[in-house]
Amino acid sequence: MNIEKQVAETIKKYKLAKKSDKIIVALSGGKDSVSVIYIMKKLGYNVSGLMIDLKLGKWSEIHNEKMIAFCEANNIPLTIVDLKKELGQGICFIKAVLKKQKNLTGCTVCGIIKRWILNKWAKKLGADKLVTGHNLDDEAQNVLMNFLKGNVLLGVNSSPATGGKEVGSPHAEYPHQKETQKSLDIKRAGFAQRIKPLFFSPEDEIRKYAKSKKFDILYDKCPCAFGTYRVDTREWMEGISNKEKLAIVENFQKLVPNLRKENMTELKICKKCGEPSRGEVCNFCKIMGSL
Ligand code: AMP
Ligand code: ZN
Repeated sequence: MNIEKQVAETIKKYKLAKKSDKIIVALSGGKDSVSVIYIMKKLGYNVSGLMIDLKLGKWSEIHNEKMIAFCEANNIPLTIVDLKKELGQGICFIKAVLKKQKNLTGCTVCGIIKRWILNKWAKKLGADKLVTGHNLDDEAQNVLMNFLKGNVLLGVNSSPATGGKEVGSPHAEYPHQKETQKSLDIKRAGFAQRIKPLFFSPEDEIRKYAKSKKFDILYDKCPCAFGTYRVDTREWMEGISNKEKLAIVENFQKLVPNLRKENMTELKICKKCGEPSRGEVCNFCKIMGSL
């Protein structure tokens, strides 16, 4: 499979980005985000990297060093956000407290915190688009996890592009929603539009691509990702072929427009932090408020 060609086609088909856009890529230091920034740069997009230093000891230190070297070698600007400076705590402390208090698992907490920081910093850096390295396997896992949890509606925003209005995809965002000037302004002000150019790209093919390019990165999974539902789902999905993963994601995409019609909630501004939110208070403030 030619991942470069697939990324170019996904961007074109779903109108994910323009060459004039300022593209901020959320860089974890893993194979997915490194491949996507490299490919988009090669395709001629104006890319910069944004990395959250999660302060996970040696693991984070190595990721930081490797991303600084990678971005320098490829002439890509890089911003590193220090989580402790940002939140006053490291991720391990936050997760431990929330596990005890609310029985929230690590990956949920980390996801909420990363999304909040990435959105805030992408806006600060003037991003037109915020790219993440989510791949086909991540998306197939999401569909199945939501189904198994009995909450298919959690996938209502599933798309190669979320959180914006300009997307002219076959499943255009909020196609039914009457846009008031106020809600348009909120979206423009509040959300850096997130795009996922690897939405249809299988994880094993991305790994092969990264290795073929000899990217000097860590291929290990996050050291904190254990004992969670996502990890279990990932394990039992190992027996599913890429063709089947694609079918899971594409068939779910066919359902999304109808799910949205019935279930779209208007985007609000969080009362506490001013970031975009589906409720009065955003998930980030809900979890951080109890620390
Ligand atoms: P994960 O949730 O770890 O599978 O990561 C999914 C995507 O989120 C990655 O491909 C990155 O685009 C982004 N991401 C994850 N961790 C970080 C981080 N520490 N800094 C910046 N972006 C991240
Ligand atoms: Zn908030």
